Amino acid sequence: MRFDGGQALVDLRAFVGDGAPRVAGTPAALAGRDRLAALFEGLGLAVERRATRIERRAGAVDLENLTVRVPGRAGGPARVGVVAHSDSAPNAPGASDDGAGCVAALGIARSLVAHPPARDVLVIITDGEERGLLGAQAFMAQDPAAKELRAVVNLDARGASGPAFIFETGPETAWLAEQVAARVTAPRTSSLMGVVYGAMPNGTDFTVFLKAGISGFNIAFLGDMAAYHTPLDTVDRQSAQSRQHMGQTALELVRALDERMPDAGPPPGRAVYGDVLGLGVLRWPEHWTLPMALCAAPLLGACCAVGAWRALAGDERRAPGRKAALAMMAAVAVIALSALLGWGFGAAARAAGLSMATAPARLWALDAALFAAAVVAAAGAGLWLARRGVDAWSALCGAWAPWAAIAVGAAFAVPGAAFPFLVPLVVVSLASLGAALAGASRGSQPGPAAFCGLAAAAVVFLPMEPAFMDALGFGVGWVNGLRAGLVGVTVVGVMGGSRAMHASSGR
Ligand SMILES: [Zn+2]
Repeated sequence: MRFDGGQALVDLRAFVGDGAPRVAGTPAALAGRDRLAALFEGLGLAVERRATRIERRAGAVDLENLTVRVPGRAGGPARVGVVAHSDSAPNAPGASDDGAGCVAALGIARSLVAHPPARDVLVIITDGEERGLLGAQAFMAQDPAAKELRAVVNLDARGASGPAFIFETGPETAWLAEQVAARVTAPRTSSLMGVVYGAMPNGTDFTVFLKAGISGFNIAFLGDMAAYHTPLDTVDRQSAQSRQHMGQTALELVRALDERMPDAGPPPGRAVYGDVLGLGVLRWPEHWTLPMALCAAPLLGACCAVGAWRALAGDERRAPGRKAALAMMAAVAVIALSALLGWGFGAAARAAGLSMATAPARLWALDAALFAAAVVAAAGAGLWLARRGVDAWSALCGAWAPWAAIAVGAAFAVPGAAFPFLVPLVVVSLASLGAALAGASRGSQPGPAAFCGLAAAAVVFLPMEPAFMDALGFGVGWVNGLRAGLVGVTVVGVMGGSRAMHASSGR
């Protein structure tokens, strides 16, 4: 079932109107809610309006939440909700934050009216989100429907472009990731995002639902920071792809929750997961993470040790570990240099007053330069190791030692964060095993395994870069350097492999 992005643009123009900011408690906010309510009523749905006054030290705020019940084939209670906020920040037309969420919710309601869900679905349009999640709190405290809900899909934006990431979920990540894997056409998600976002002080309406024990998904696009909470957050600035991707992803998840969720809500159980190029979702039970890391790292080490022992002759065989240790030191040096460079770039960008809101192109150029520098440094390290007589297997082992350390550490401490480190490590370990077995009789070459590792690192890390850049920019520059260094250092293994292949073909 396709979300109608063209209709969403028409709806968005109708909702945003002349673009007057819809600051909670103002007449413009009320006018915006009237326009949105009329759009829902146009679908033949009743809109319940619940006004409330919140007393705050800074003065009272008058709020009004809208709730719309879309009838299911078997009637209530509504276990699934769709949440977006109607208010905007001061000075902002709020076309993306959160007009995009409001019209996505409207489009989902339209789809549900045409093809009714199994049970009632509740659309909740909150007010006062920008004033501190006030409307969501009021909904939880006052609305009897709140007690029926088991899961919600929350829609928000922190910019005007980019993919719609499923960046936060309820605690039952195994079941939730299964739904994303089974039902979302173009998933962009990672358990790492939940870990990173959870460590930040930011909140969205989803925070309020989570605290009340309601599960679900939090979806947002965050590209083009210049539009966030500024007069640039207009309808014309919003990316059509972002609008479509958010609506489509949310519609598929609402359908999945409606059709597949048990009455009591998502069953417990945690998973580590992430998308692969937006084509599908790779996932495994969280408790497999540490055993996976503790198998992959020694497997790689053993393959490399056997390969190196076979490749070396006579006296050199006595200390193959020494060559791997040299390669590891070179790899750590590349990563450390890269992190230092990233820290320097970050400090320079701050000094120059550059941010993702003011100068995204220049920060992206810095980031690209960082990755290029890391690759060049790694290539240099690879050549240096080859000149010092370090064989390709030892170079591969050293290059991936930092990956193994981080993967094992993450698997132990924060399994959800292990995804981007463990996936390439498992790939390079299995590819090394393949290479070692394939060359069992005539001496094996690690080149193909090194290429597989590099490819896996690139596939997992590079598509995350827009999310990292949009969320953090160069705010924590050494982390940019660490990412570049980790991807770059995989080149050390490839350089060793290609040198060895040259040597053997020339023999
Ligand atoms: Zn928002």
